[in-house]
Amino acid sequence: MRAALEQARAAAEAGEVPVGAVVVRAGEIVGRGFNHPIGAHDPSAHAEIEALRDAAKRLGNYRLDGCTLYVTLEPCAMCAGAILHARLDRVVWGAAEPRTGAGGSVLDLFAQAALNHHTAVTTGVLADDAASLLTEFFGTRRVQQRLQALAGHPLRDDALRTPDGLFAPALDCGCASCFYSDWPSLGGLRLHVKDSAGQNASPSAAARQWLLLPGMPAQQGLFRELAAGLAAQGDRVVAPDWLGLGRSDKPKKDQRLSDAQQLAMLQDLLQHLQLDGERGLVVVAHGDAARLAQALVAKQAALGRPVQGLWLINPPNAAAPSADYRLWLEQLQRKLALDIAAALQTSATGAVMDADRQQWAAQFPDKGYRAGLRAWARDALAALDAAALTSAPLKQTMPILISIGEQARWWPAPSQGLDAWLADVAVATGTAGPLASQRCAGGDWLPLQNSAALLQASRFFDAGAQPAALGLVSATLR
Ligand SMILES: [Zn+2]
Repeated sequence: MRAALEQARAAAEAGEVPVGAVVVRAGEIVGRGFNHPIGAHDPSAHAEIEALRDAAKRLGNYRLDGCTLYVTLEPCAMCAGAILHARLDRVVWGAAEPRTGAGGSVLDLFAQAALNHHTAVTTGVLADDAASLLTEFFGTRRVQQRLQALAGHPLRDDALRTPDGLFAPALDCGCASCFYSDWPSLGGLRLHVKDSAGQNASPSAAARQWLLLPGMPAQQGLFRELAAGLAAQGDRVVAPDWLGLGRSDKPKKDQRLSDAQQLAMLQDLLQHLQLDGERGLVVVAHGDAARLAQALVAKQAALGRPVQGLWLINPPNAAAPSADYRLWLEQLQRKLALDIAAALQTSATGAVMDADRQQWAAQFPDKGYRAGLRAWARDALAALDAAALTSAPLKQTMPILISIGEQARWWPAPSQGLDAWLADVAVATGTAGPLASQRCAGGDWLPLQNSAALLQASRFFDAGAQPAALGLVSATLR
């Protein structure tokens, strides 16, 4: 039986279910075999059959009178039949096989007097050794299958994935691309996240952590210059592609995506990347990612895991949205084949934006990929149409900064000044200051157009920062 166990180990090494067998005559092993139906493409390649074939060939006789078969596991019906046909004197096995065993577990072919005139049976020999080999094998295989599934992030039938080749690496954030698909909020969709700490990062020693949320349809690469500057200070920088955008998976149907799911994704992201807690996390949102950033800040405060700062760059003015921005959202909803690069022309202007504009359009190889865009436009319009801000109870003291590009057309600064707006954001997120605003050169896509001014403004979130010294205007809560 120890020789049979050796055969079983050989099966395990070959990635097959570990069962081994030997045939013995007059104290000598005359046949060996291990289970390998997968590798042999042969449903009959069980250990017993292989050992019987080996012995019969060696002895030059299909009848194995005077032989004993040792096998680590109770034989199945096929093998029990072969054992009877070979007229073995005796069969000895180790562990019982409750699902397929034909030696008493499911049925007992050896007890059929009409079939069996020859073969005596002994059971339970080194049964624990045989069983633990099997347990270990299946345990390892489960772990491997899980790891494989995680590494592969299989694509759901009701989703699409833009080929990697359509993304220009030069337009990406520089940090490591990380992929996740097993968080509850993702529903099996693959999420792409740029993370300066890399995949499976342990809690960062960085003093400051930044979660950078691009406005639709930009990808994480919108922040590439700002992210490089922040990472160069030793900060941790995390920038996801929204579900339905960039290298994250794109559902085929609008109904599959909503603000609620994106928000749940952000909360999972904070938890799994260990960004929540007292780690100096600042949430930075560009353009119309602002509504999700505000919701995230309020949610985290309600959970008792407040973030430590909120920075809105060119947020849309919900009270008086620009005509250009509203038109963009309505066209996305109405025109399935909207020319995205052209539609962005009033917003992403200038040579510096051309490559990015083309990239944002190229992420949708055809209109089938745009369900996430339409879902986003639907929820963004609903947010604009929701008249009043819901005010959250004041729960936290947290700095809030708004930066506005002076040439912004889609997301211009409100004419009555930024103070009232800042106060509204503070109330909506349940926050009591400090509050500050910044106007600087640049248009609608400020992170790409004036990363130097933004990098300087980022110091607003340092302890004891002096807004005036950073070129910022302080505001107070009404
Ligand atoms: Zn069998």
